[in-house]
Amino acid sequence: MNTDAKIYVAGHRGMVGSAIVRRLRSAGYSNLVMRTSSELDLTQQASVTEFLASEKPDYIFMAAARVGGIYANNTYRADFIYQNLIIEANITHAAAMAGVERMLFLGSSCIYPRDCPQPIREDYLLTGPLELTNEPYAIAKIAGIKLCESYNRQYGTQYVSAMPTNLYGPNDNYDLATSHVLPALIRKAHEAKLRGDSVYEVWGSGKPMREFLYVDDMAEACVFLMEKDEIRDGLFNVGTGVDVTIKELAETVMDVVGFTGDIVFDASKPDGTPRKLLDVDKIKSIGWKAKTDLRQGIALAYADFLQNVGS
Ligand code: GDP
Repeated sequence: MNTDAKIYVAGHRGMVGSAIVRRLRSAGYSNLVMRTSSELDLTQQASVTEFLASEKPDYIFMAAARVGGIYANNTYRADFIYQNLIIEANITHAAAMAGVERMLFLGSSCIYPRDCPQPIREDYLLTGPLELTNEPYAIAKIAGIKLCESYNRQYGTQYVSAMPTNLYGPNDNYDLATSHVLPALIRKAHEAKLRGDSVYEVWGSGKPMREFLYVDDMAEACVFLMEKDEIRDGLFNVGTGVDVTIKELAETVMDVVGFTGDIVFDASKPDGTPRKLLDVDKIKSIGWKAKTDLRQGIALAYADFLQNVGS
């Protein structure tokens, strides 16, 4: 990727897209194309076709998606499958028709079967049933991978897919009704501390295990994959290779935030998948690994929360 290459970052205001923009800029890429959702509605095929046909970017980072935590995925099931499918289909097709050769499509580790062996290798895709709470989103993301593969086969494009584990960091969603667990726990521990509460509430049993990756590490991995000319196809897991229980996560968050009370578990909320630890050997074997450890990443995320969200 030359530093003057024209690069379209779809979803540049989101947590992942904004981290990719930061990473690209710091690496010297300056010819970035971005559109807000009010400037370009990615669910509208004609608009996407016209935009890509006239801009003809050299590279696309496809980080535009409808995303959310376990409650949002389970509640807005139709929105999650419909919006993700249509955005992916519009961009992939229009990109191929406009002659865009390189794209990085971003998905999520929930594409893998609920009960597959751990750590999860890329070739476990489509080997078993999915977790029900986020099945519509997962189906849409699997379709996105298959769109990339299919356009590569039929049209000779070089569209690669990256599947991150649970991400967190600057520009995360801290709305408790729709967020993922890590930002939710930061907000809850922070507010409990401010109110002087004796407890803070964690959903489910605390037993599920999750792996967390700081979003700037993810952005670095995305740029790394795009910079590798020999990587032209396929699927790459992106994670740390280390997971923790939700209880351990809740304790680390309390510690970083400085809340000294106790945890109460709300068993009426779902646990979701018991475990989803990614096998990251494939991306490691070509030279990338995560840098930020969980505690350090939570401290960075909390500092960002204090500056931009909380009081
Ligand atoms: P998932 O990885 O797709 O299941 O999505 P989440 O990040 O939303 O949830 C991960 C796990 O954290 C699940 O077992 C949740 O029940 C648990 N969890 C504990 N407290 C919270 C919370 O306050 N918000 C969310 N979203 N999840 C929580």
